[in-house]
Amino acid sequence: MNTQVLVKKFPLIKNMQNTEEIIWFNPNINKTKEALKTVTVTSEMVKEASNRLNRFASYLQIAFPETIRSKGIIESPLVAIPTMQIALTNLFESDFNGELLLKCDNDLPISGSIKARGGIYEVLKIAETLATREGLLTETDDYAMLATEEMQQFFSGYSIAVGSTGNLGLSIGIMSAKIGFRVTVHMSSDAKQWKKDMLRAKGVEVIEYASDYSIAVEEGRKQADQDPTCFFIDDENSVDLFVGYAVAASRLRKQLEQQGRKVDEVNPLFVYLPCGVGGGPGGVAFGLKLIFGDHVHCYFAEPTHSPCMLLGLMTGLHEKIAVGDIGLDNKTAADGLAVGRPSGFVGKTLEQLISGSYTISDDTMYRLLALLTDTEKIQLEPSALAGMTGPVQLAKHGVNLQNATHIVWATGGGMVPEDEMKAYYAKGKSLLK
Ligand SMILES: *Cc1c(COP(=O)(O)O)cnc(C)c1O
Repeated sequence: MNTQVLVKKFPLIKNMQNTEEIIWFNPNINKTKEALKTVTVTSEMVKEASNRLNRFASYLQIAFPETIRSKGIIESPLVAIPTMQIALTNLFESDFNGELLLKCDNDLPISGSIKARGGIYEVLKIAETLATREGLLTETDDYAMLATEEMQQFFSGYSIAVGSTGNLGLSIGIMSAKIGFRVTVHMSSDAKQWKKDMLRAKGVEVIEYASDYSIAVEEGRKQADQDPTCFFIDDENSVDLFVGYAVAASRLRKQLEQQGRKVDEVNPLFVYLPCGVGGGPGGVAFGLKLIFGDHVHCYFAEPTHSPCMLLGLMTGLHEKIAVGDIGLDNKTAADGLAVGRPSGFVGKTLEQLISGSYTISDDTMYRLLALLTDTEKIQLEPSALAGMTGPVQLAKHGVNLQNATHIVWATGGGMVPEDEMKAYYAKGKSLLK
């Protein structure tokens, strides 16, 4: 389809071409029960992922002592951010109903971003599959034995490859190297130097590309294709990554219950998820729909220069369209979100489940970054602020938010070096003036 035809059919594309902050409401949203009948991922698959992560808990406590506190479960806090809620209202001169919460994946152990969910899960699944196949492990064993020298020796006979803009590389790299795999991270040009340095310091091979994320992924795939002992983690199509992310939902339900927050017909839950290729936010949204059904409303948030998932969902073209096709440059300071082409698998799985998608400019993310630091003393990386304008956008467009609980998914920031974070904050401060 040429661009003019597309713009005629989807006038919102015109606004996207002008890099305006826009919101799209999904006309194909369906009753959750009906929508779930049309997809290949099931609640059993998510449950299986959850059980697998539980089996690894004893190992993770040894491999990463920072997980001892949570008994080897990689999970993050859910906190109310009332002073930020007031500051948001003031900044945008627009009030919204409901209470604002932050899901602090920036605090996730091991890699400080949402990638510590799916990425680590997939590496562990590969390790379990290999060790089980060789008769070295059964599901009823204490997985603490995976931390032994012999097992590391065994895993060193295999390698992992992944293409990444940064955070997935950190998560896969750190986990793979720890368990004993050889690991190569193919990094796109926009990946930060400190991420490459950190990975190399942990014994990860980092290969850099002058081009963007898609090329880095392609090269990773090629490497793995030539080597039967090499496993490629496919950020664009991996069901394992997806279900690893989806496990977040049952954990979130427990947190909401513990905090006495209801989710039902009269107490709707709204969740705002920064979206890159789609696996992380898509997996979490999918898990939430399995649990809360029609009472949860999930929205993706993307940079104005990289709204790939919105474009794929709206046009129904999914991975067959990229932001470059409508003239956008895919240049954004939001690390994990600089993705030009969405995952077709995720788009098709979520097409009747996602409530909508909106865009946010880099400058707005920076402003919100500084504002969150000032109000709540929580420091995130720019991408992780993308969810923050969700409630404001919905209120502006007349969505009924009575009794709503709003969860902004703070997807990363935990690994950002102090001087980088200072620079982010300074930039946000200057934009707030
Ligand atoms: C990767 C990432 C996302 C989005 O996840 P995708 O699976 O790429 O859609 C959001 N925020 C941060 C900080 C990330 O690193």
